[in-house]
This record gives sequence, structure tokens and C-alpha cells, in this order.
Amino acid sequence: MKPATRAGTTVARLVRQPHGQYIEAMPELPEVETMRRGLAPVLGSRVTGVVRPRCKLRPIEIAPRLASFRRRVVGRQIAQLDRVGKRVVIELGPNGKDQTDSIVIEPRMTGLVLLAEPPDRKHLRFGLQLQGGPAPELWFWDRRGLGSVRLVSPVEFARRYGLDRVGPDALRISAEDLAARLAASRREIKVALLDQRAVAGIGNLYASEILHLAGVHPRRRCDQLRLGEWRAIHTATVEVLELAIRYEGSTLGDGTYRNALNEAGNYQNHHRVYDRARQSCLRCASSTIERFVQAQRATFFCPGCQPLRRRKTASLADGDGTG
Ligand SMILES: [Zn+2]
Repeated sequence: MKPATRAGTTVARLVRQPHGQYIEAMPELPEVETMRRGLAPVLGSRVTGVVRPRCKLRPIEIAPRLASFRRRVVGRQIAQLDRVGKRVVIELGPNGKDQTDSIVIEPRMTGLVLLAEPPDRKHLRFGLQLQGGPAPELWFWDRRGLGSVRLVSPVEFARRYGLDRVGPDALRISAEDLAARLAASRREIKVALLDQRAVAGIGNLYASEILHLAGVHPRRRCDQLRLGEWRAIHTATVEVLELAIRYEGSTLGDGTYRNALNEAGNYQNHHRVYDRARQSCLRCASSTIERFVQAQRATFFCPGCQPLRRRKTASLADGDGTG
């Protein structure tokens, strides 16, 4: 991989995979939140079995081992559905020891959490058999197999996913907290927004979308942004992520991401800048979207709406183009 190009150098070519797709880590917060919401029918269901379907591919990480997993899970009720950053959290009702363990599913690149028939059987990795609700099974499907399924006690949950490991959720963090966590950093804002310890849930796709709505150039250094710009980034974060959740996330060209019912998302039809290089900006209509590689990831922005030199934020922070 080449290092990121410096500001002002020519727009670099995107790193492409053999089948022509950009190297991309989906899903992000909106996709995982859509999966979580899609699991609502299993609330209150009881787990009757834990299965690991026959799979010829390299096994995904499942912890603890299946026998122990089964022993701790079978018979327990699904009490709550949550999300921590880009992970789905299935909280189980108390066991004999009054302990509310959680099953944490991390989809990483290509994982899906499904109540419906999966896209195919050969990439099925893990399943819960259920009773007492409308869905008899919950599946984890993962084409590339980089995801994981982990049963954790409350203590282990805090150790792995506590605030010192995973930052505040992008939908719940305040503008002041966001600024406090990043404003001393010398990193470029687009790169910093991907740091899950600082703020959880934003990935490569939505970082470009957020910065376009906020009117902030992706190469601006965190320690040079003013409070007004942090506020604009914060407002844009909530607006972009909530809109993407309403559209049930983005299903990109490879078609991998699906909701819990194995249906495509729709936000890809509403992207402001992502994957729109050389197309006209939907907000200013006078500039063309550009792309470059930043910390080995594709970044998209509008040079008209997101100047590298600071301008007065007032004219940049209002107006939302396509909404
Ligand atoms: Zn523009």
C-alpha cells in the first residue's frame, strides 16, 4: 500500500480489488443499527440451540468454544438488543447467578445478522435456534469470514467494550466531547473520525458524507479546527447517520450488505459525495466531486464546498443540499 498523498498533490488512484470494488469496510453504524433494529422480533424469545453450520472455509472467531457457549446460552431469554459502535449486542436475561451475559456479533467487512434466509448457505457461520417468537432462527452469515461472535460476561463486556476501548457512540456524543477528544490531535479530520476509541461507529463511507455536509475539507488538521467547525461536524454526523438509518444503510456495488430480512439498503442512492467522483456536487452544482487516497482509504469531497483554506464557517455550516 502506498502512503497517503500530501495535501496539494494530484488526486491518487483508488486502490482497487481484483473484482473492481474499492477496498471498503462496511458495515458502519447505520448498517449495524439497521441490523439491530431488524432483530426486534426475537426480543423475548428463548434460545433452544446454538449451531455452527458446516462450513468449508476458514472458521470465524467464536468464543468461548461451542460446548461452553451452548451451556451458558441455551434456555436463556433474549432480554435486550443493543449496539456498541459497529457491533450488535444481544443481551441475555439473567441466569442462575443473576448474570446478564451478552452475545456480541461484530460483522467487520462482510458479516450479516439475519432472521431471514441467508444469501447462501455456504457462508453461514453461526446460528441461534429460538422459541417463543415469530423467528425460529437467528443467523450470522459472513462471506469473507473476518467477523466474530463472542459471549461475554458483564465484566468482560466492560473490559472489551468499555469507554477506554470504544469511544462514545457517534449518535450520542456531544459536540463539546467530540472536540475535547480530537481537538489536540495533529491528524487530519477524516482520518481522526475513523478512530473508534475517539468516537464509535463512523467508518470510511460516512466520514466523507459527514465532512461534506459540515463543509470541512477532509485534510484539515484537528488541532486547527475551530469550535464552530466542530459543532458543524457534530451536527452533520447526527444528520447523516440518522438519514442513513432511515434508508436502512448503504448497499454498495458488491451487494453484500443486507438488512435482517436480507433486503438491500437504500442510502447509496442518496450519497452526497461517496463514490461520486467526477460528478457534479449536489449542493453547489458548480464544482465536481474529487477523490483521493487518505491513509489508504478512498476519500471523496467537493473542493467548492470544502475548501482547504479556512473560510468563515457560517456560510459553510448551513444549508444541507440534498438533505
Ligand atoms: Zn459543492
